Amino acid sequence: MKIEDRLAVLNYKTDKAYAHITVDPKICETCPDHFCTFACPAKCYTLIEGKLNFKYEDCVECGTCDVACSHGSVAWTNPKGAHGIKYKYG
Ligand code: SF4
Ligand code: SF4
Repeated sequence: MKIEDRLAVLNYKTDKAYAHITVDPKICETCPDHFCTFACPAKCYTLIEGKLNFKYEDCVECGTCDVACSHGSVAWTNPKGAHGIKYKYG
């Protein structure tokens, strides 16, 4: 199964009032590599006409972007209680 198909079956309770990850647009404007766009499995980071577009709503809470951005732009926390992604095991 492709990653896009796997992501499509996930359930979320998105907290629209609280972005658990934020990026600093001033830092991203001058970023030389945009490594986040390659690292995020959920494609939360994309480039639109050369500018970084970030949407936290599809985040699978893997933490990759927190270490992938070496420029200090990403501020990462977990979603607040009972919000975020819901995984089914088994
Ligand atoms: S989040 Fe980090 S890696 Fe991604 S564009 Fe911004 S500065 Fe670059
Ligand atoms: S925590 Fe993982 S899924 Fe969420 S935005 Fe960062 S890299 Fe993407």
